[in-house]
Amino acid sequence: MSDYRAPVEDMAFVLQHVVNVDQLQSHQAFNHVEATEIAGILEEAGRFFSEVVAPTNRTGDIQGSRRNNDGSVTTPDGIVEAYQKLVEAGWGAISFDPEYGGGGFPLTIGLAIQEMLTSANMGFSLCPLLTQGAVHLLAEHASEAQKLAWVPKMVSGEWTGTMNLTEPQAGSDVGALTTKAVRNDDGTYAISGQKIFITWGEHDVAENIIHLVLARTADAPPGTKGISVFIVPKFLLNNDGTLGQANSLECVSLEHKLGIHCSPTAVMSFEDATGYLIGEEQTGMRSMFTMMNNARLSVGLEGLALAERSYQQAVQYSLDRTQGGRPDLPKGEAAPIVEHPDVRRMLITMKAYIEAMRSLCYLNAKAMDDAHHADDAMVRSSGQELAEVLTPLSKAWCTDLGNELTSIGVQVHGGMGFIEETGAAQHYRDIRIGGIYEGTNGIQAIDLVGRKLSMRDGAAVDELLDQTQAYAEALGDSLSALAKPLTEGVAACRESSAWLLANRGDAALAGATPYLRLLSTVVAGGLMAKGAAIAQAEIAAGATGDRAEFLSQKLVTATFFIEQLVPAQLGLMPSIMSGNDVLANFHPAV
Ligand SMILES: Cc1cc2nc3c(=O)[nH]c(=O)nc-3n(C[C@H](O)[C@H](O)[C@H](O)COP(=O)(O)OP(=O)(O)OC[C@H]3O[C@@H](n4cnc5c(N)ncnc54)[C@H](O)[C@@H]3O)c2cc1C
Repeated sequence: MSDYRAPVEDMAFVLQHVVNVDQLQSHQAFNHVEATEIAGILEEAGRFFSEVVAPTNRTGDIQGSRRNNDGSVTTPDGIVEAYQKLVEAGWGAISFDPEYGGGGFPLTIGLAIQEMLTSANMGFSLCPLLTQGAVHLLAEHASEAQKLAWVPKMVSGEWTGTMNLTEPQAGSDVGALTTKAVRNDDGTYAISGQKIFITWGEHDVAENIIHLVLARTADAPPGTKGISVFIVPKFLLNNDGTLGQANSLECVSLEHKLGIHCSPTAVMSFEDATGYLIGEEQTGMRSMFTMMNNARLSVGLEGLALAERSYQQAVQYSLDRTQGGRPDLPKGEAAPIVEHPDVRRMLITMKAYIEAMRSLCYLNAKAMDDAHHADDAMVRSSGQELAEVLTPLSKAWCTDLGNELTSIGVQVHGGMGFIEETGAAQHYRDIRIGGIYEGTNGIQAIDLVGRKLSMRDGAAVDELLDQTQAYAEALGDSLSALAKPLTEGVAACRESSAWLLANRGDAALAGATPYLRLLSTVVAGGLMAKGAAIAQAEIAAGATGDRAEFLSQKLVTATFFIEQLVPAQLGLMPSIMSGNDVLANFHPAV
């Protein structure tokens, strides 16, 4: 039996009440989506990921993907079969454009399903995730002929996609890449260079791999401006679209990693490989950003997904493990550890943050859906702005929390958490990468302070805080105690924003990471308040049984989040507003 159960009730609650997913129905693209369908879809997907994918998680970790002497890669037992079932069930295609064979559902619903996939097996989830990013890029920037040739089979999952940016000297600074693209007489390009850390760069789950490769043409200027992006397939296509000869590329090794062992992380070598330019030369970075924005949200979601799985395991352990007495028990009798206040504190910290992260990530996806699909131009542009502000928060806050919460998950297990056989340590190891790839969390914080806070001179962030304040003010009498800490959080964010806007350069960059933490917590606190108000109203309207229990727990976690976790972040203000002097005076090598 699987040890993962999709948290369908909370997902549906957040989608319906916190994010108002029903509003998307008013966009023509989503007219067909019935709000009543959503719970059923989540139930069905939950069963699939719990029964088909979650059981592959341990084997994936223990066996890992292996490179064979001929350069091929063998994935762990059960992965090929699980991938085939995923393709047949079509879950990976649910939010793609129906024009290419997708389900036409909003990204917001696709993201909830992706959460289940990631909780079930994060290393495995990266294969469809990278494909999804590649499809988004192609759908937006490729020519019609290219879309026709590549996209439908990637949407169906018959072929997978990768993202080839990183080189040994070009990590956070992608502009330093040196992979070359030389134009051939027939209009194709010869791609040569070495890429490192390429997720699912080689594998045995699908018959073709469509690499999207960043490279530099002969006369390109230095830096990101000179980058172009190419389709470089593992197998070229014959005129009739069937698979043709192998391209001149190779997986030369796989990395040995701390976690996500199921995911093959490849060093890829391209030697005069045939590549097809996407869009114009030197527009590669713009195209890549299409892929990266979605991918950043998906990576943020990994923090949530692994915290959820770690939480479920920790809860079960805390119910089973007995240790230590309690005042209400006869002397010498041990209580389940869940009875101890400190263990309950650990568990509620996990649960409250999980619900808050879910609210933030799903709202981010809703903003992206508005940005791309709203019929009204005003809704599109406000959706775009909101998505731009929220994306670094989702990416960095949720993956930082993923690290912290899976660590708490280990702690709940005591010594057994440190023992691999328990499985708690795997979640902790697996999520560690979340803060590093897809733009490190430090880079996300710089993006927030440098680009996003500057939007309309601070007004974009300020309006998000207005909304948070409105949620605080809308709390009814029975929840009025939550209004004060939330209002103080909003005020702290406004003061910090104003300071950062007035102090640019290194002074502001020095405070970027704590600012991201404070802002994320307060904004998510507003969403928790919104959810609490709705839960309270449903209870007052006479909810009974399991539903009433679920709703009353929403009040408990929201109260804990807003009364205890939000105020703790106000202590970050000196770190945000102290400037760079102490950091500049610090000499690490002394
Ligand atoms: C398992 C795994 C999978 C990956 N998958 C892919 C993939 O599929 N495709 C792909 O192209 N890449 C992939 N990557 C690469 C990943 O995106 C990079 O590792 C990441 O962008 C960081 O680059 P770096 O490792 O060179 O670190 P560096 O850029 O060297 O950063 C080191 C440290 O310095 C900080 N730093 C760097 N520059 C600045 C700055 N300007 N200001 C402040 N701080 C800074 C960083 O935040 C970090 O803490 C993967 C990596 C791993 C480990």
